[in-house]
Amino acid sequence: MKNLWNDNEAKVFACDPLQLRVYTSRLLGRETRLVLHGGGNTSVKTSTTNLFGESEETLYIKESGVDLSTIQAAGFAPVKLETLTRMASLDELTDMDMIKAQRSAMIDPTAPIPSVEAILHAIIPFKFVDHTHADAVVTIANNERGEELIRKIYKASVLIIPYTMPGFILARKVSKITRNMNWQKIEGMILLNHGLFTFADDARTSYERMIHLASLAEDYLQKEGAPGSVAKAEDREDLLKLAGIRHQISVTKGDAMIARLDKSTEACGFADLPDVKSIAARGPMTPDHAIRTKPIPVILKDDVEKDIINYSSAYKKYFDRNTTGELTCLDPAPRWGVWPQHGTLAFGRSIRGVNIVSDIVRHTIRAIQYGETIGGWKPLPEKDIFDMEYWGPQQAKLHKNDVTSELQGKIALVTGAASGIGRACAEMLHKQGAVVTGLDLNPKITRIFNQEDLTGLTCDVTNDKRVKEVVESIIRRFGGLDILVNNAGIFPPSLSIEDMDAKIWNLSMDINLSSHQRLLKMCIPYLKQGIDSTVIFIASKNVPAPGPGVSAYSVAKAGLTQLARIAAMELASDGIRVNIVHPDAVFDTGIWTQEIIEERAERYNITVEEYKTKNFLKTKITSKDVAALVCCMAGPAFAKTTGAQIPIDGGNERVI
Ligand SMILES: [Zn+2]
Repeated sequence: MKNLWNDNEAKVFACDPLQLRVYTSRLLGRETRLVLHGGGNTSVKTSTTNLFGESEETLYIKESGVDLSTIQAAGFAPVKLETLTRMASLDELTDMDMIKAQRSAMIDPTAPIPSVEAILHAIIPFKFVDHTHADAVVTIANNERGEELIRKIYKASVLIIPYTMPGFILARKVSKITRNMNWQKIEGMILLNHGLFTFADDARTSYERMIHLASLAEDYLQKEGAPGSVAKAEDREDLLKLAGIRHQISVTKGDAMIARLDKSTEACGFADLPDVKSIAARGPMTPDHAIRTKPIPVILKDDVEKDIINYSSAYKKYFDRNTTGELTCLDPAPRWGVWPQHGTLAFGRSIRGVNIVSDIVRHTIRAIQYGETIGGWKPLPEKDIFDMEYWGPQQAKLHKNDVTSELQGKIALVTGAASGIGRACAEMLHKQGAVVTGLDLNPKITRIFNQEDLTGLTCDVTNDKRVKEVVESIIRRFGGLDILVNNAGIFPPSLSIEDMDAKIWNLSMDINLSSHQRLLKMCIPYLKQGIDSTVIFIASKNVPAPGPGVSAYSVAKAGLTQLARIAAMELASDGIRVNIVHPDAVFDTGIWTQEIIEERAERYNITVEEYKTKNFLKTKITSKDVAALVCCMAGPAFAKTTGAQIPIDGGNERVI
């Protein structure tokens, strides 16, 4: 493991212990083999001066659940050291009282919630304390011969503590064990099945001890263990089945979930192991992961629906077996899966959540295989895992980033998304929690939307091959499709029927009508597996109220409306809702140029301003207004509506 300490970087912080603490915490955070997503914690002990000019010993401890890789000074909670050390000498302390006492001992009440390990950090008699869940150390500890191997590797250089639930109980245990111990003789402390502590009076030594001790475990595994199995995932793709898995996971969870398939050679190698069912189902690398991954994955075989249902009933039984007191069973849906012949799967309500699970899974499957090689992978008993999974302070970490947006976990596709109504729809769907892919002929789309959960792809909607590619890429990235917004369109030049050019007519039919039929056809198999799937067609006021000179546009939009009405009938039995919006005079879109607006105003013999608000409500209609209606139609308010045509035109006398 690489030592990332850099004298030049560190010297800037030399006079400020907290800044130095931030610096080495980030160094730890940069190594994913030490900590993953909010795991681990660090602290520094220093003096602060209170209002009365008195000096107080203070422990700056990492905020619960925050990422070490990006932590800032504000991510450390300042707690009175004396209160914390006295707490370790109590005989009993409930979690609630511990959290209360820690909060009331904070010298800044607006600071974040301290890590649950604050008391343990306080009793370690060194200025800097570093704690990680180093993969290699927990891998070795999760073994039949775990303790024996750890002793063999570290000899007397570390203190070994058998697994104990974190928080007060662990701090008290360490306090008792170390009462007459000479801390100067050891470099670190290993909590079996949990992680590693190092400490020193200077930041660099504490950090370097962490790298050194973790490296010893890695070197041992390298020497003893075999590299993980690898296999290729070629020709194994089954996107429909993937969408079916994501559907069943979402139904079991009771919320729309995103599913990501990892078909890397490592993931496939693991999924293809003959004993994968047994080794994957023994438990997580560290109980800390259980809140993200649940204790074990679902193993998917041929009847994936049944596998997920069986998993959920087994999870309920696991809860019943282990529950004590007033606990409520969490949702029984798995958070990751092993899919032989395909790879591993991660599930989550957001891309961030999926990424966290994916990372933990990647590290876990490696640890399991090393564990098997060095004597047999054997995580903690399920009761210990359960206690951590259902521990209040752990669950609080999860809820910190809770998202309750209406469309959370939904997967959406919007065509014509580089400008106007399409762009507004994509942005608003994303804001409401959906992962969105926006298509447009304009290559600018890839720069407009370039986030993992809001992506722009260049696509000519009349090019079937390309459309198929992008639809499949959505299933591959997110596991399904729930919302389709058919918006792409052109506004051909105004021509009377007598003067109509066949090319213009055909182009309008192809883009404004036929391309939507083909896209819908391609999406239907996936929409059938979606969660409250919905299709929304952006038609036009011209359908109920056509005007002269725009036959190429209006006829195509009328055809589109008819297509949507028939789709509503055909797809209702699959629970897919199909609705239509008829916007009018949305002038902030690509199809309206100043020239067209002026020409139209002149035709009606009114000013441009009058033309823009030519409706009963005397209001201007914007792309955002249409997007708000589309989002509403994609959500629960329209759960029981299909085949509807909704005008958004400020009230038009020919439509009413
Ligand atoms: Zn820990």
